Amino acid sequence: MKTQDYIAIEDQYGAHNYRPLDVVLTRGEGVWVWDVEGKKYLDCLAAYSAVNQGHCHPRLVKVMIEQARRLTLTSRAFRNDQLPLLEKELCELMGYDMMLPMNSGAEAVETAIKMARKWGYTVKGVEADKAEIIVCDGNFHGRTVTIISFSSVEKYRDGFGPFTPGFKRIPYGDAEALATAITPNTVAFLVEPIQGEGGVVVPPTGYLQRAREICRARNVLFIADEIQSGLGRTGKMLACDHEGVRPDAVILGKALSGGMYPVSAVLASREVMGVFQPSSHGSTYGGNPLGCAVAREALRVIVDEQLCQRAAELGDYLLAELQKIQSPHVNFYRGKGLWVGVVLKEEAGGARRFCEALMERGVLVKGTRHNVIRLAPPLVITREEIDWMLERLREVLMMA
Ligand SMILES: *Cc1c(COP(=O)(O)O)cnc(C)c1O
Repeated sequence: MKTQDYIAIEDQYGAHNYRPLDVVLTRGEGVWVWDVEGKKYLDCLAAYSAVNQGHCHPRLVKVMIEQARRLTLTSRAFRNDQLPLLEKELCELMGYDMMLPMNSGAEAVETAIKMARKWGYTVKGVEADKAEIIVCDGNFHGRTVTIISFSSVEKYRDGFGPFTPGFKRIPYGDAEALATAITPNTVAFLVEPIQGEGGVVVPPTGYLQRAREICRARNVLFIADEIQSGLGRTGKMLACDHEGVRPDAVILGKALSGGMYPVSAVLASREVMGVFQPSSHGSTYGGNPLGCAVAREALRVIVDEQLCQRAAELGDYLLAELQKIQSPHVNFYRGKGLWVGVVLKEEAGGARRFCEALMERGVLVKGTRHNVIRLAPPLVITREEIDWMLERLREVLMMA
């Protein structure tokens, strides 16, 4: 079957909740992927940073197969021998007391919301059903009804109401807006240290530190959604590390399993995570031995291959080289580590045509928020591969 055959089938039988580029991939290795016609592409999205370790990393494939042969799912009705080790290794690596495993990112965000509310009622003393959580304009935290309830993107919400109450939105990057928005009922501030889907928006230096201080002073949990920004992408293990900020809770997903298998988690102190009692929360697949074994190896790969340092060094190089491209279409470039937003001018006509032109030339990228081209290759990319990509990007950004 050819590309068009697969597309026709998907058009007929698949829900049209995405508008993917018309490339049908069948194989991946490191930073490279191949389509069904045998054409090779450099993947500069890395599945929204889930594949930081690179496609089909041999160490992850090996662990996945070995664990699949041994034991895959017990449910949490029983214990398994992988979850305790992931719990210990992840907590020690990140410096937290406890963790709670889930599968998708959205589930981990939901978990953090439930945790913050329960902490508000049982520890902070907020009156029943009055808890408020503050979030930011331009946020992306997932697609459940509760999470889209506080999205500022109309397309994510349209037709899906009624929405979950208890959220308040403030401008991103504005710590004073946070100070003003907090009330005695505020239990948490949920924030992305860098907004990914929002267009790789890097907040002003000092913002996270200031927000952290405000939360501490007002007895509000500072919760960082590091699902896309964490695990090396920005050049540090967590994006919050750039400002030496330690959140009360951290949400991880995506690269936590290196693209092998959905694994997400919430990390917090004993005091905060302690609000969960038996039966208060759960997931059939959450904490399954297959996912846990893969996540343990995915974390070791990040450490062993020094992916944080790589992202820092190569990211600096990438941004510096991009800044030399004097494109008539580009407003500016922004980013941190191997995570760059090419912000196009309004007249450029949106990111899509540039993404399609790059695809023709063997580079896969995805636009976000209409006019931003996001570059986020697997962190195992080499300088030579970045140069290869830059050559093509230069061509496309200089086209009419
Ligand atoms: C991708 C993402 C999510 C949602 O994760 P899913 O696995 O798609 O549910 C939440 N927050 C951020 C910051 C993300 O980038």
